[in-house]
Amino acid sequence: MTHAIETICLARVNSYLLAGDDGYVLVDTGKPEKREALDARLTSAGCGPGDLKLIVITHGDYDHAGNAAFLREKHGCTIAMHRSDAGRVMKADWRLGMKPKPDKFPLVFRVASLFIRPGWFETFRPNLYLEDEQKLGDFGVDATVLHLPGHTRGSIGVLTSAGDLFCGDLMDSMMGRPSLQFFINDMKQARASLARLRELEIGTVYPGHGRPFTMAQVKERRSG
Ligand SMILES: [Zn+2]
Repeated sequence: MTHAIETICLARVNSYLLAGDDGYVLVDTGKPEKREALDARLTSAGCGPGDLKLIVITHGDYDHAGNAAFLREKHGCTIAMHRSDAGRVMKADWRLGMKPKPDKFPLVFRVASLFIRPGWFETFRPNLYLEDEQKLGDFGVDATVLHLPGHTRGSIGVLTSAGDLFCGDLMDSMMGRPSLQFFINDMKQARASLARLRELEIGTVYPGHGRPFTMAQVKERRSG
């Protein structure tokens, strides 16, 4: 079954709205600074108050979790994510569960991070902890959760039965073609996650940052 996908790109962060059988599922929620714009986009897509059934947070970074608490309040929906990243959104502590020194964090981004700190967002407690291979049918979408650690320990993806993958920040296409994200907490985990994806039936990949790409493009590249 195919679900219509609305891409909402605000401040270079993507959220994806999936039309389900009875309401909507939102994958990631963007930065709190873009709350009004996000809210307007959801409304214009037909997702009015109460229509959002589920928010899936691919990982506990502020640019993905920043509007989850607000949207839950408005729609009365469930917030679901992996347990391993939950402490990061409950405490708004982006270092929690991370290595003291991430495996991949190029100098230019490290320097930039000294000046651009993750912003404030409302902390929240997820309603539901998602496991690897968990089905989302109860929320009206024909999709499966994949635990894809690497960027963070609790990073997950959502794979629809139509072969659309929402990969969070495991990969992006900010440099014009798909690659592993610039920030990888654990490279061994990230490579294992990528290897697993290569074996699955995946058509299009929708990243947390950048434009969609195909899994065939990923396979053309020997490494991320
Ligand atoms: Zn991100």
